[in-house]
Amino acid sequence: MIELIKCDSSFRHEVNESSGENVGLCFHCRTCAGGCPFVEAMDHPPHGVLRLVQLGLRKEALECSTIWVCVACNTCSIQCPMAIDIAAIMDALRSMAVKEGIKIAEPDILDFHKEVINSIERYGRTHKLEIMMRYKIRTRNWFQDMDIGLKMMAKRKLDLRPSRVKAIGEMAGIFVEENEGADHE
Ligand code: SF4
Ligand code: SF4
Repeated sequence: MIELIKCDSSFRHEVNESSGENVGLCFHCRTCAGGCPFVEAMDHPPHGVLRLVQLGLRKEALECSTIWVCVACNTCSIQCPMAIDIAAIMDALRSMAVKEGIKIAEPDILDFHKEVINSIERYGRTHKLEIMMRYKIRTRNWFQDMDIGLKMMAKRKLDLRPSRVKAIGEMAGIFVEENEGADHE
């Protein structure tokens, strides 16, 4: 059976508004793909995701793995001849995917993001050991990367105890504003 592809004409505008960028400026020179250190692990190259957005292919863009594999290193954004902040567009797409309850292509990466945010909310900074432990609990992937964790501990790169920033009250204010903003959406 032939599956019809749905084009959503408002999708591009929503992505532009959320990212503060203009996806329509991309003319597919592929410079971003050439410089991206993670392109091999992506299902679409960075400009391919922009093409999906230009074409209004909401489902395809929000369900792709690229938006989660992207580490926001900004290599592509710096090199783009049209000065498009591609990392900001990936960020906007991740946010839309979560808000719209889309099936997440890389759930483990989303879990990791959540633990980093939780740590910042609790301490005002990241506590790497706790992030790793909580991530393991979420994913039940107990032994993956264990050798790296042990090496980091041996080199004292992982603090056993978390430390809070002094201005933790101000940090809490940021999260209250964020949560209130989300409630009103
Ligand atoms: S470098 Fe910029 S203009 Fe070129 S394909 Fe990538 S996003 Fe589009
Ligand atoms: S910001 Fe994302 S898409 Fe751009 S080069 Fe880095 S990993 Fe690749």
